Amino acid sequence: MYDLVIVQCVKSKIWDKDKTAPKFVPAKDAYVSPYFKKMRAFAEKYGKRWAVLSGKYGFLLPETKIENYNATFSRATFANPTSDPISIEEIKKRLRTDESLRSGLGLNTITTCVVLGGNAYVKVAEEVLSEYRVQVVDLLKGLKFGEKLGWLDRKVGPEPILSSLSKKRFNQTYKEGEQEVIKLVRCPNCGKELMLLPPNYPLYDTQCTGCVFRAQVKTNKTKPKKEIFGATWDVMSKVLKSGFITPPLIVSFKWEEGSVQKQEIRFYPFVPKKNLKKYFTKIKKTSRELWMFNYTGLDKLPYFVVYKR
Ligand SMILES: [Zn+2]
Repeated sequence: MYDLVIVQCVKSKIWDKDKTAPKFVPAKDAYVSPYFKKMRAFAEKYGKRWAVLSGKYGFLLPETKIENYNATFSRATFANPTSDPISIEEIKKRLRTDESLRSGLGLNTITTCVVLGGNAYVKVAEEVLSEYRVQVVDLLKGLKFGEKLGWLDRKVGPEPILSSLSKKRFNQTYKEGEQEVIKLVRCPNCGKELMLLPPNYPLYDTQCTGCVFRAQVKTNKTKPKKEIFGATWDVMSKVLKSGFITPPLIVSFKWEEGSVQKQEIRFYPFVPKKNLKKYFTKIKKTSRELWMFNYTGLDKLPYFVVYKR
């Protein structure tokens, strides 16, 4: 357990998502990005107490109610061109004058705290808390955004992030082929059994019962070939943009030769982005138009044969 976990504020707030949200909301519920939810989950799990470091308010206890704002300590970006954060002097002043905030943070007793957030937030925390001789530990130091998410995933579990990436998946039901694959193939990482993820789970179809391995599963009733059907582009695109790489891919090829049933299941540990071929299509049934992708160039990618008959 850490004495105090400080979590940086984020741009995505409840008022952007929910027009009926009250004007004032507790800080713990005001930020709604997957990144924040992860950090909060970490703070609640590993911190004796925790707080938000806000670009507008300075330190906030989880239950403190706040209203909407747009300010960050991170440098100005395209998404946030006019951020004008609270000054360090003002944060110090608020701490000096607010006894319940100081005791909420435990500043009278603790000697170290951890910060989850970008460099700019760590600097602010260091400068302010040095007055209280509290040493700041930057837990995510040197990690890129996607790596931070991955690190938090390993500490608190990945579900909240991925489920928010997309609620829909092209295949709504378990396919027989997927069931078969997990019976025939064991985890390429640790050798334990694989299990299926729920039908609406975005992007991934299977995960290991013993380690963090996850993969997408595709089934084809043909001989091994170089291009196969992928999925909707939407989810994959969001995953790539949030700093993740393409999920590992398991493909089951099943075909007949004469009267003999053949099958080969291949594991592609890494599928580069250039092997995803995007195309625009219309679903006949519903006339819905959308972007899809195929996996291409599978003959040129490294793979392991994990089952053959
Ligand atoms: Zn495993």
